[in-house]
Amino acid sequence: MNKKQCINEIIAEYTAKANAQKTTIALKLAALRKNDESFAGLENDVSALRIEYARQKANGAADPVLTARLQTAEKIFAEYMETHDIAIQPKCHCKKCEDTGWANGKLCSCVRQRLQEKITEASGISSILKDFNDSGTDFFPENLRENREKIYRLMRDYCKKFPNAQYRNVFITGSVGSGKSHLISCMANEVLKKSETVQFLTSFAFGNQMLKANFAPIDERESLISPLLETDLLILDDLGAEPVLNNITIEYLYLVLNERLIIGKNTVLTTNLSPADFLARYGSRVFSRAMDKKSTYIAYMDGPDLRLNASGATAK
Ligand SMILES: [Zn+2]
Repeated sequence: MNKKQCINEIIAEYTAKANAQKTTIALKLAALRKNDESFAGLENDVSALRIEYARQKANGAADPVLTARLQTAEKIFAEYMETHDIAIQPKCHCKKCEDTGWANGKLCSCVRQRLQEKITEASGISSILKDFNDSGTDFFPENLRENREKIYRLMRDYCKKFPNAQYRNVFITGSVGSGKSHLISCMANEVLKKSETVQFLTSFAFGNQMLKANFAPIDERESLISPLLETDLLILDDLGAEPVLNNITIEYLYLVLNERLIIGKNTVLTTNLSPADFLARYGSRVFSRAMDKKSTYIAYMDGPDLRLNASGATAK
């Protein structure tokens, strides 16, 4: 998801709501003018008195009798409007920005709040978000505790500094049940808290989306691929579990990873595969983008010794 687009959408929603309110008010007023002579009279009185008051003010001072008449007429008019439940001005939901989306030349906090909700909804991971703060390290197995604690510490730091952490990409490798999903749901949550956009896709969903893109007309193709390039953080989960589709999986994985490296966007990959098995499955082009030495942190969830285990046969 594109943040600018999202902000524009929110402000457009505000404008549409305000316009809808204005239309409702205008329709109610038109109906009253037509059906209620006393209202039409009141409105005309107030209007005429206001004009006269403004004219006298412009020439020096308004006559006190006129001022009192205007005040009385305005009071009666306001009471009438209240009894008929008509607001003259649309009601604002946010006093700070009066629903314009901007306050003191900055994006209003109400927009930033809505932005965070919207990008969380669109992330694809909103239902399983976890929090680093609630994630004690007690559930780590004894023999891996030190290793996992280090990874969690580094990944928390990565998210705090996002998108300016030391590493651009993270490659998380570990066997089934090693806690990769828990870790990435903490990471996604932390990045979303900063109102950075996150897109989460399982490798299976990624493959399907790219298959669709490959055969779609050009403009539709764009709408399937560009969200994966534009999002601030892309998480591709469980690489290796998906079927490798001929001329699709590897080609599009390379395209997305390479493009994101070029434009300097962060990507997190998780897999059950060891780096060696990852290389064997996806080839050296994808491997070099997924594990670019300068920009990638490799998190070994099963413990640091297993990096020597090129077979990828890791213990649960
Ligand atoms: Zn506001």
